[in-house]
Amino acid sequence: MTLRIDVLSLFPEAVSAYADTSVLGRARERGVWELFVHDFRERATDAHRSVDDTPYGGGAGMVLRPEPIARTIEATPGLRRPVIALTPSGETFTHEMAARLAQLDGFTLLCGRYEGFDQRILDTVVDEEVSLGDFVLAGGELAALCVIEAVVRLLPGGLGNDASSVEESFGDGLLEYPHYTRPARWRDLEVPQTLLSGNHAAIARWRHARALALTMARRPDLIERRGGLSRAEREMLDELGVLESPGENG
Ligand code: SAH
Repeated sequence: MTLRIDVLSLFPEAVSAYADTSVLGRARERGVWELFVHDFRERATDAHRSVDDTPYGGGAGMVLRPEPIARTIEATPGLRRPVIALTPSGETFTHEMAARLAQLDGFTLLCGRYEGFDQRILDTVVDEEVSLGDFVLAGGELAALCVIEAVVRLLPGGLGNDASSVEESFGDGLLEYPHYTRPARWRDLEVPQTLLSGNHAAIARWRHARALALTMARRPDLIERRGGLSRAEREMLDELGVLESPGENG
């Protein structure tokens, strides 16, 4: 099944250019997902094609008018729901949301600009609001691309290698273990011995312990969410001596 993503944006070329690149571009060529980018300025009906206007009640900046956005959504056949608006006041985007969106046959992303959307658009044609985090961008395009990339790499064939996204950060509720590559010794820094041992069971235990220790140190909230550590995990951490010193090589 091909995941259909529609994006409404005043800068369609910014969205398409990135979507043609690297992982996203190759996944599109393989038919893993398809993209329809709509410039909602084309649905503005006045002579100047204006998509924004001054805010009622006064204040700085311009607000996106509701009609061009609503018309674009209503006039696009096959457009999938949910329609998700990118806004700083939306629900913070997470791996769980990406995983949920990856299960659908598609969804639609609405990118704001200027001061953002007329509230009535959010109240009517929009189903959900998603934020990238507690900061303010100049437009929703980067946020939309983050959502797209996080979703597409979870799709079967999204990375061209289905194993790659399974063991990553957040996949099992933990941050990922650290990686090393050649050379085995670089500037007096050695790769942890276990990884050079060829003992796959020991490597798996080491990685699991490292992932736990890192998550405990940096994101105790994630450990709490998965119900703390099991007895076996505590024992493993004790045995490998990583409980007290999550930053060191072991
Ligand atoms: N006046 C708004 C900010 C508008 S920024 C406010 O104070 O909340 C312009 C556009 O950029 C927004 O409409 C939204 O689409 C996008 N944007 C800005 N920050 C974002 C964030 N953290 N997450 C998702 N989209 C964001």
